[in-house]
Amino acid sequence: MSSESESPTDQLSDVRERHQQAAQELLPEHTDLYIGGEFVAADSGETFDTVDPTTGDVLASVARGDAADVDAAVDAAWTAFDETWSNYSAGRRQRVLTDIADTIEDHVDELARLESLDNGKPVSEAKIDVRGAAEQFRYFAGLVRENPGETMNAGSRYGQVIKEPYGVVGQVIPWNFPLLMASWKLAPALAGGNCSVLKPAEETPLSALRFAELVDDIVPDGVVNIVPGYGEEAGTAVTGHPDVRKVAFTGSTAVGKQVMKSAADTVTDVTLELGGKSPIVVFPDVSVGKAVALVKSAIFYNTGECCEAGSRLFVHEDVADDVLDGLVAAIDDMTIGDPLREETDLGPKVSAEQVDRTLDYLEKARDDGGQFLAGGDRPDDEALSAGCYVEPTLIEGLDHDSDAVQEEIFGPVLSVFRWDDYDEMIRLANDVEYGLAGGVITDDITQANTTARDIEAGYIWINSYHDLVPGLPFGGYKQSGIGRELGSETLDHYQQTKTINLSLR
Ligand code: NAD
Repeated sequence: MSSESESPTDQLSDVRERHQQAAQELLPEHTDLYIGGEFVAADSGETFDTVDPTTGDVLASVARGDAADVDAAVDAAWTAFDETWSNYSAGRRQRVLTDIADTIEDHVDELARLESLDNGKPVSEAKIDVRGAAEQFRYFAGLVRENPGETMNAGSRYGQVIKEPYGVVGQVIPWNFPLLMASWKLAPALAGGNCSVLKPAEETPLSALRFAELVDDIVPDGVVNIVPGYGEEAGTAVTGHPDVRKVAFTGSTAVGKQVMKSAADTVTDVTLELGGKSPIVVFPDVSVGKAVALVKSAIFYNTGECCEAGSRLFVHEDVADDVLDGLVAAIDDMTIGDPLREETDLGPKVSAEQVDRTLDYLEKARDDGGQFLAGGDRPDDEALSAGCYVEPTLIEGLDHDSDAVQEEIFGPVLSVFRWDDYDEMIRLANDVEYGLAGGVITDDITQANTTARDIEAGYIWINSYHDLVPGLPFGGYKQSGIGRELGSETLDHYQQTKTINLSLR
């Protein structure tokens, strides 16, 4: 599927050379922790390597934060809150957020290429992430002044209900959209008047560190602190810290449950954006071309490493053969290759560990009787052999109870089910522990609305997918999470309510 005409060995060395040059140009100057406005080594002096999933080469050694560093970051954040940030007017905070948005927009290409290097995502998609990150700051900048509170004149008392920041919030994010997830966390936290200690994923710390460099002159010292490190070290220290007043976590449901348990010890407010296993339903009235394009994007965008990925296809019996043939042809047309190239549709997964995880699911699916209509392995292409690639895969014939259908694979793997009985299809669509998102493809708007209501999930797309815009809240039902991002209600998650009851007697 590679478009190159040179030998695989030459292609491999071209890719390596392109990546080495890009790394020289793009790597952040600082790969330390960012605490109190300074880049500092980890207290332990330890580092960890972040690896380019396209070449397997080490990109950088990054300071490995642990509990001692998180303590320092939380202290710095409280100092910033007490001495600076809580004294800023809403207008001044709004300007900071707007300046951050402008700065990100001024560096779209650079940040997108860095993200592509560290994560493996196609650079064309990384640009969408980076623009989305800027939009986050712009949207929440707009909400900063929308905080009027309420008053009540009730007989002998006068009541005021005001919103106050928590002070210091702890935020932990995953590797699939590194800068975008950082912006989903930082923008509402700062808009709500808080300071943050944010831990990026150990697989992809670089864009958050470059972000810190870029906004260092804009954000007062200590308002944003970035502590890269491992989940069991820095992650648990952030989410269980007694002086962190609110925890926001995005990641797997398994870890989300642990985070929620540890927050219970200090009765800390927690929001969780977790995994998904979203259904995408195709009705027989739509054109095959439209269905194929939407389903392809629903599952293969970002190499399938999307919490909202449409990973279970329910296609109506009447169009199933045509849609599946169309999907196989579309997969065949995909350009799998170097994510730094604009024409690439599918890059490597983020790490060798994630490849193994996906391949384990494919093996289970084979054992469970799945028929592979496309893919099912690493690509048989010498030119891709250094990277963490998995073929785009279509599987039919699995029982809906099988592991590959019930569990989040987080890779380019779509399970297909044909339907003709609507109620039975909806029963299966809802028969998973997750409830993050869903897709409905039909031109019958009444039917689309009915199905959107019938699917148990927090976000339903009708005739599109992955289209997330600030202002439309995103988050999960069931075990996909608690709380919403991207909406005005997100600001509520970062503020606490104070009632002041003034006696007029
Ligand atoms: P993960 O849960 O393994 O890790 C997420 C983050 O948590 C990382 O920074 C990790 O270091 C940290 N972590 C790990 N163990 C921890 C612990 N015990 N305490 C505190 N922090 C800990 O998930 P991942 O593999 O990085 O990301 C993929 C998952 O994220 C998928 O399940 C995906 O669906 C989910 N996700 C959800 C959304 C959403 O908005 N719902 C968005 C993106 C990703």
